[in-house]
Amino acid sequence: MINTDIKLLQLISEPFSHTGEHVQGPGGNTSVKFDSTILIKASGFTFKDVANGSGVVSLSNTAIISNLTSKVNSGDKIYENEAPQILGSIPDGLKPSMEFEFHALLDMFVLHTHSVYVNVIACADNCDELLKQIFNDDEYLLVPYVTPGFPIAEYLLKNKTGLAYPPVIVLKNHGVIVHGSSAGAVVEKYKYAIDKIMAHCGLQPMPDMVLQKIGDDNYLVDKANVVSNNIDVATLVETLNQKVLIPDQSIFFKGKVSSSTQISPGIFANIDSNEIILQGNDKFILACKTMIQAVYYISNNIKKLGLQPDYIPAELISIMHDLSTEKYRSSILEK
Ligand SMILES: [Zn+2]
Repeated sequence: MINTDIKLLQLISEPFSHTGEHVQGPGGNTSVKFDSTILIKASGFTFKDVANGSGVVSLSNTAIISNLTSKVNSGDKIYENEAPQILGSIPDGLKPSMEFEFHALLDMFVLHTHSVYVNVIACADNCDELLKQIFNDDEYLLVPYVTPGFPIAEYLLKNKTGLAYPPVIVLKNHGVIVHGSSAGAVVEKYKYAIDKIMAHCGLQPMPDMVLQKIGDDNYLVDKANVVSNNIDVATLVETLNQKVLIPDQSIFFKGKVSSSTQISPGIFANIDSNEIILQGNDKFILACKTMIQAVYYISNNIKKLGLQPDYIPAELISIMHDLSTEKYRSSILEK
């Protein structure tokens, strides 16, 4: 059954699986519901994996909602909650995306990305005001920054105003969710929202970055791309490690970026030669490459637009690093 259902999930995953503009590495997730079950992207897997027919998990949607509701009603401060029993996965033995709970609350098709275009706005301190200008004719909801996973679902559950949630939900310092009753409607609405943001801010598409293989698990970022992506090698370590705009930036880069030693898996910023060297397996390299592009794209455009960046406070970053769901997700990336 999962094999047929995955075709529906591919309709909202494949179009966004080709570049790092929408999702970086295993970030973002998609889901589709059938009666009382939900098919969702697996933790640590990519949109490309789903497009290629793997990395999906099936669960009871009603069990997720009842579990979530009782935890929220308990009033306890919770950052993560266990998923109900897995009904099946491709391949066997996977866990659902750590963001499975908010998917359960939304319409039949749910697309959640870490779009760099949305994040230019979502990582600016006057995000609220900007969204009002951009989506003046549209229904949307802005969720303030909360730790990914359970807290997002908790916020949505506590802040439902009408019968349904607006089709576009912007997550502060994180990304966007678009949901609807058909795959076509979701893809169309998502593209509409991105186009509107790009047009309003005059954003150019994120520039590409080419890697040259220089040894086993060793890649050099093409120097022309260092320039086109506006990367300052001298401040690379500080930017990636300390100026945290989006949660995955810290999940991917913490302890992995250095200008003095080559860490594997990791990034070596050689200040003397103005070179960036990425080390690790293919999955890690691709995630790192798109994450570097995304962080620089977001921060440069915030600067270009004359906005103020809104960094995630250190105490909220450490809460996230302690989540078992995040540890599991990082471990899959390094396998
Ligand atoms: Zn996310």
